[in-house]
Amino acid sequence: MRLEPRTTPPADGPAMDLLPARNAEIAPGVTVRRALPHRHRRAVGPWCFLDHFGPAPRGALDVAPHPHTCLSTVTWLFAGEILHKDSLGTEQVIRPGQVNWMTAGRGISHSEELAPGYQGPMHGVQLWVALPDATRFEAPSFRHHADLPVAHVAGADVTVVAGTCGDVTSPVATHSPLVAAEVRLDGAASLPLRVDFEHAVLPIDGDVDVDGEIAGVGTLVYLGTGRERLSLSGAGRVMLVGGLPLGEDLLLWWNFGGRSDAEIRTFRAAWEAADPRFGSVDAYDGARLAAPPLP
Ligand code: MN
Repeated sequence: MRLEPRTTPPADGPAMDLLPARNAEIAPGVTVRRALPHRHRRAVGPWCFLDHFGPAPRGALDVAPHPHTCLSTVTWLFAGEILHKDSLGTEQVIRPGQVNWMTAGRGISHSEELAPGYQGPMHGVQLWVALPDATRFEAPSFRHHADLPVAHVAGADVTVVAGTCGDVTSPVATHSPLVAAEVRLDGAASLPLRVDFEHAVLPIDGDVDVDGEIAGVGTLVYLGTGRERLSLSGAGRVMLVGGLPLGEDLLLWWNFGGRSDAEIRTFRAAWEAADPRFGSVDAYDGARLAAPPLP
């Protein structure tokens, strides 16, 4: 069976689609809510993957070295400590309020474990950003940002993970115009949006009123394009993501991003053959993951 690239065109204006996340087991005993890709919405701007994990009272995480291609992975925590190691030689602990932005480009491999000694709760999101055709085979890179700017608006504090909210801009470099923000609500807030972006909101803590619709944990609220502002009210946190529609067909399979069946087969064969394009995570104590069989 051939793998087919898929896309869903951006809404031609404002939308209000409540898309239920599905449960996915990312490791034995570790279940996450997968909001993207959704069968009715493959991506929001360049954001093509969105997992929400926890809150769990005791963190448990040990994802052995595995590859990525043609995308950036973004880790953002609300609670917990994760130790990231990659084939560039990076070893980085990430904590709440910090972002790990790893760009796979032509190929990288990494592992994710609980930070040594950490025994507390775990709660966070992992997102993938599809790289545009012009840069998707660039050299891999890893960036950790410990200090991100906060926009204070009436009714909310907004940590700008990437892109811009109002007059506050994140230092994170991106490959296409996009935004990601953690919004901590304390009442009713109105956030400025870019009208040419697609946007979506993911409730993190509980029910939130999103422009008149109540949405809870496990629901991605797709907002379409063409909005100048977003009204939110409640007492919890949400993640806001958005960006210029990518306008390219995407194919995601396992941890690979690509454009065609042939590309994915090439990436998989290269990983299974320990091709140097993916390097090796020498600091990880254990075996790397094997790719699953192709359909
Ligand atoms: Mn990964």
